[in-house]
Amino acid sequence: MHIRVDIKRNDTVKVMTGRDKGKQGRVLRVFPNKAQLLVEHVMMVKKNVRPNPQRNIKGGIAEQESPIAISNVMIVCPTCGPSRIGHEHRGDRRVRICKRCNGPLDK
Ligand SMILES: [Zn+2]
Repeated sequence: MHIRVDIKRNDTVKVMTGRDKGKQGRVLRVFPNKAQLLVEHVMMVKKNVRPNPQRNIKGGIAEQESPIAISNVMIVCPTCGPSRIGHEHRGDRRVRICKRCNGPLDK
């Protein structure tokens, strides 16, 4: 299965469905093959960490992001909020635009 991924690292996305519905965060990683994203402070899971004195790790429980399905998030347009991604050709560049206000999503 191949789906086109229009969301990139450092985009701001909003969670539209699931446990973290309504949360907004920055995209840390994109997994195109799995159609998943890692979003800052979204889908936090607790993880046991073993103490490792050599690396100055105390051990205990750490919280960590886990991947979320791309279909569960929407990109956040700086002007109008959660939106869908459209495309436009500017010269020979294909840029991402907001489908609502037609404003650019890439700086
Ligand atoms: Zn917009």
